[in-house]
Amino acid sequence: MLSKIIHDKNLKALMDSMPVSIFIKDAESNLVFMNHACEQAWQINSADVIGTDGHQFFPPEQQACFLATDKEVFSGKAKVECEEWIWNAALQQNRLYITTKMPVYDALGQPLFLIATTYDITERKQSESRIQRLTHLYKALSEVNQAIVRMSNEQQLFPLICQCAVDHGGMQMAWIGQSNGENQQILPVAKYGKDLDYLDRIVVSASADAPEGRGPVGTAFRENRIFIINDVEADPTLNFWRKTIDGYGWQSMAAFPIYRANQPFAVLCVYHNQKDVFDESAISLLVEMSKDITFALENFDREAQRKNDEASSRLAALVYETSSEAMMVTDANHIIVAINNAFTEITGYTESEIVGLSGTILKSGRHDSAFYQAMGHQMRLTGKWHGEIWNKRKSGEIFPNRLTLNTVYNEDGSVKYRVSLFTDISQQKHDEEMIWRQGNVDALTGLPNRRMFHQNLEQEIKKSQRSGLPFVLMFLDLDDFKEVNDSFGHAMGDMLLKQTAERLKLCVREFDSIARLGGDEFTVVLSEVDNLKGADRVIEAILASIAEPFRLKDKQAFISVSIGVTLYPNDALDADNLLKNADQAMYAAKKTGRNQFSYFTRSMQEVAQKRIRMAVDLRGAVHGGQIWVAYQPILDLKTGHIVKAEALARWTHPVLGAFSPAEFIPIAEHTGLIVDIGQWIFEQAIMQVKRWQQLYHPDFQVSVNKSPVQIHNKMSRYASWGHQLTQAGLLGKSIVVEITEGLLLDANDVVNKKLLEFRDASIQVALDDFGTGYSSLSYLKKFDIDYIKIDRTFVSHLAPSSDDLALCEAMILMAHKLGIKVIAEGIETEEQQQLLIAAGCDYGQGFLFSEPLPAEEFERFLLKSSGLKTSGWH
Ligand code: C2E
Ligand code: CA
Ligand code: CA
Repeated sequence: MLSKIIHDKNLKALMDSMPVSIFIKDAESNLVFMNHACEQAWQINSADVIGTDGHQFFPPEQQACFLATDKEVFSGKAKVECEEWIWNAALQQNRLYITTKMPVYDALGQPLFLIATTYDITERKQSESRIQRLTHLYKALSEVNQAIVRMSNEQQLFPLICQCAVDHGGMQMAWIGQSNGENQQILPVAKYGKDLDYLDRIVVSASADAPEGRGPVGTAFRENRIFIINDVEADPTLNFWRKTIDGYGWQSMAAFPIYRANQPFAVLCVYHNQKDVFDESAISLLVEMSKDITFALENFDREAQRKNDEASSRLAALVYETSSEAMMVTDANHIIVAINNAFTEITGYTESEIVGLSGTILKSGRHDSAFYQAMGHQMRLTGKWHGEIWNKRKSGEIFPNRLTLNTVYNEDGSVKYRVSLFTDISQQKHDEEMIWRQGNVDALTGLPNRRMFHQNLEQEIKKSQRSGLPFVLMFLDLDDFKEVNDSFGHAMGDMLLKQTAERLKLCVREFDSIARLGGDEFTVVLSEVDNLKGADRVIEAILASIAEPFRLKDKQAFISVSIGVTLYPNDALDADNLLKNADQAMYAAKKTGRNQFSYFTRSMQEVAQKRIRMAVDLRGAVHGGQIWVAYQPILDLKTGHIVKAEALARWTHPVLGAFSPAEFIPIAEHTGLIVDIGQWIFEQAIMQVKRWQQLYHPDFQVSVNKSPVQIHNKMSRYASWGHQLTQAGLLGKSIVVEITEGLLLDANDVVNKKLLEFRDASIQVALDDFGTGYSSLSYLKKFDIDYIKIDRTFVSHLAPSSDDLALCEAMILMAHKLGIKVIAEGIETEEQQQLLIAAGCDYGQGFLFSEPLPAEEFERFLLKSSGLKTSGWH
């Protein structure tokens, strides 16, 4: 039967035409047939092998395998299938074959031969395994992808990746290494699969300098590239690890860099037991995977950041909640989105009331739009603002707060939130204001005090410089306020000052300012007045208002005010000079009488300057011999004899010439120099009177003016005038002291004592300038006055049946009734003299008789007028 088959031409042709290798062996395993395809596959000529087992073409271990399967075929099996790698000598390569062997038996059941078919499935198998591997890798990738979602950090993720690479990606082993930093060793942080001990036996580095860093792992890590080895045994880059790696049977390996935040972070390393595993598709899948891992890591970072943010914002929220600082968060449209407890405490609004409303609900209306504009401008520029601002509580109450504004931006730079933090500084403001008030406000009237006035004045100057509009400064001094104090008491005086402040307020506009400098001195600043005329109305109003009677409890007081007015910038350019001007003008006003006002003028300024110059020069004048004494004769009007002389001070300035005492005496008084000057004049007077008493008449008198300043001066270094006269060997009545009415007005103990001293020393006292002041005749009675001197102003207008004549007559009559002699001053005409004589006036003084003369001239005049020494005066 066998030969029948073999030799059947048709069958042989059929078998030769089949693409599959077919061979037939007999029961002894010798080849009896081989088809064309088989001859081709193995490059064997069938004639050379028929009758043999043909095994000489195969490696020995393969031959045994062939025999074993042959035996198995005849052991009663219907079919034996075998898939095996067989060395194909013709192709010089191992190829995968699937061989199917089937037995054929004879009628008695004896084995006759076997028919074998062999397919080369190398290609098919390869693509099959590739597909399988890729399927695995896809699986691994999707596993990794899913895992990433569940994982929250690399400590969880990395082992899972290794596991996926092995369990699903078909790898033998996988590990992930990270550089340990210090010595740049790459150490496994996760590993999975077979033969993990390998990792304990090798050293890998990230450094390019070391040989252990130049392998796939180090290179992948350093250079951020995938490193593939598809033939482990042959690849020279693995030579450093050769001894170790060859024992593990890996054929392919790949190293994938894992980056994090653009920095090398780790390396994934996978091993496979087949060569050429990492073809393009596999690589792209693995690249995908490493990208996913990188993405996952960055996600972890973002997540961590977010959690961190969340934690810190929770912390911040906690801080804000417990903070005493109020917090308000608004969105880009100023809508309130959050507030804290302190906010509620301070503003009175609860969260449910205010969230969703506009932040402008807190606006107080205290600031102008320019304020908010400036604030908005800065917010747009810097996103921040800090300062003090007035806001409004729910109750409507306005309160000051210290506010810090901050901005939270979106990623595109637009505003996300504005955060306001503020504290209520009402109390602080209140305290500050208290302190400020104490320093700046007059406690009695509530008006700004001197300090604040000065500040305001500086401000006013700046304001005027900006606006170009002048302003007016007024200096006010109440007339005779002292009298009110003296006669009604200080409490009443205070009351009057308070009322004055109130009245002044009513006289000015709202934006004008009033201050009290102290005592009875006030200032008024009229802002933005075009000219002095604008001030007139206010001045008139003030004068009229103060002239109204003041009700002080059950009493009434009448006072008036003197006002000095100056204009900025016309009169002066700085606060000090401006104030000086106003002060001067006020004095000028006082001089012209009470209830007056005076504008500061240039000539006034010149006078002031002159006065200052005088004050300086006056110091040296006494010792420099510039002061001398003039004597003016006083005649007995009945006899025409010169019985007295008035000593009058003279100052001849070396440069400026003669000064009138009306000019320099007030300065001497003001500076206190009058004490020394007065003493010197007194000494001169003593000298002269002594001489003239001897030369002319023993009863001759010299009258000396004594300033109130001299009388009030308690600490005089000089002996009393009485004492000095005795020292000079003169009687007290050699001298007449001329004092002013004013001295008697505010007479106190000192004045009384002085006057008594004079009387005790029998020095006579004359009341000068009588009739110009307030002194009533009752004063004359109270104090021991010997003479009154009728002031020049009455004398100069004397005419028959004039008012002044009547006044003079009355004064003379009254004086005589009180036992007081009368001296008329300033007699310039015969008529005046005659009228006064007729009125009974005792003595006369004036240009009609003589001007004040230097001592020698006076002496000549004295002796000439009398003709000779005479003793027949009285
Ligand atoms: P008084 O005490 O009233 O002095 C009289 C003034 O009248 C003197 O001015 C004198 O020159 C001036 N006089 C005299 N007769 C006439 C006249 O017929 N017509 C005019 N128009 N004037 C006449 P004098 O010397 O300029 O002194 C001015 C004032 O200066 C004095 O006024 C006195 O208050 C003060 N004074 C002068 N010397 C002294 C002094 O030694 N000590 C003090 N404390 N004051 C003095
Ligand atoms: Ca006098
Ligand atoms: Ca006088």
